[in-house]
Amino acid sequence: MLVFKFGGASVKDAEGIIKLTKVVEKYKGEQLLIVVSAMGKTTNALEKLAKAYADQTDDMQDIYESIKQYHYDIIAQLFESTDVVFDEVANTFVEIDWMIEDEPQDDFDFIYDQIVSVGELVSTRIVTAYLNKAGLKSQWLDVRGYIHTDNTYREGVVKWGKTRDSIALSIPAQLERSIVVTQGFLGGTSENFTTTLGREGSDYTASIFAACLGADSVTTWKDVPGILNADPKLFNDTVKFDELTYTEAIEMTYYGATVIHPKTIKPLQNAKIPLLVKPFNDPAAPGTVIKENAANVFAKPVIIIKQNQVLLSISTKDYSFISEDTLSDILGRFAKSRVKVNVMQTSALSFSVCFDYKEEYFNGLLENLNSTYKAKYNSNLTLITVRHYKGNAVKELTAGKTILLEQVSRNTAQVVVK
Ligand code: ASP
Ligand code: MG
Repeated sequence: MLVFKFGGASVKDAEGIIKLTKVVEKYKGEQLLIVVSAMGKTTNALEKLAKAYADQTDDMQDIYESIKQYHYDIIAQLFESTDVVFDEVANTFVEIDWMIEDEPQDDFDFIYDQIVSVGELVSTRIVTAYLNKAGLKSQWLDVRGYIHTDNTYREGVVKWGKTRDSIALSIPAQLERSIVVTQGFLGGTSENFTTTLGREGSDYTASIFAACLGADSVTTWKDVPGILNADPKLFNDTVKFDELTYTEAIEMTYYGATVIHPKTIKPLQNAKIPLLVKPFNDPAAPGTVIKENAANVFAKPVIIIKQNQVLLSISTKDYSFISEDTLSDILGRFAKSRVKVNVMQTSALSFSVCFDYKEEYFNGLLENLNSTYKAKYNSNLTLITVRHYKGNAVKELTAGKTILLEQVSRNTAQVVVK
């Protein structure tokens, strides 16, 4: 059996859904489980809605209306006005209606997950309905009853045992009857609340299903020809990798390559299931295959650019050394504030850490650190990571920029620049 994942960019409009159907048609006769993300930029818009609701701002209804309108416009292009999909979509949005009717009481991360999850619940309704309309018999599946997580809202931790059991119990039989379409990015708690698995987590969902079902492969359909050595939006002479090892793919995603969610590879590696990254626009093209015994060929270095970085320097208030105990205490505070470290460097009197700027976690971290230490920071920085660099690659990339931190190992160079 095969697992497919279609990201938001692939299903951003009616044309995307038609194309998805054409891709699926080519796999007639295969057992297929399809994981779908929210359409286009819906998750970003729902994040804004969650925030507007939590802060009770005036633009809340407008944000909500435009999200609904975007989906209704798409289904109006794909279905007759009498189609049940209109009711299905409306009934899904009711989950938000109920929530925003009352004043916010709960923790923001909880609110976030209950609202943001609607993006995938709606997109999968639309995709399932359209596949059926095209004669590809499909069943909509509520992933929240299959991927079980703890209640770490916005970053649910998968309970593998329970998840495996639920998936094994009924999905294989369903796959014999029809295609199964389900939501990426979501999970459910033991109290039946919705969790999300972290932004861009739909790849991870596909990998969880594949591992639990012993799939032959996972394919993630993308708007790029495969995995490239650099972001084609930033560089114009990119090259595609035909294949990569799991280990190299893990390294690349760890350093911030956004083609695949970092958690995706491990379950596949353990189960020895290949991951194919293929172009949505050209289903017959080979794309990139990630597998155990791949030839990693680096004709050009891998370049990963992360914007919106903060570089924070922490020192003790009494100018004492940064000891191991201090480091452990500081990193504990990062973990508690849910801030993930991209690069760190220590000297006698200060400890520097570079990480993604996320408003909601940053202020908490800063407050926490300042209660015991002195923390100074620079924001709006860029982190450039170059793997398998040769010659002047790093110098060329940083020419004309101010370097605030540099770390070079045999395979990887990381530079924080202004
Ligand atoms: N829709 C979610 C996001 O945009 C999950 C995903 O796209 O993988 O973060
Ligand atoms: Mg997305």
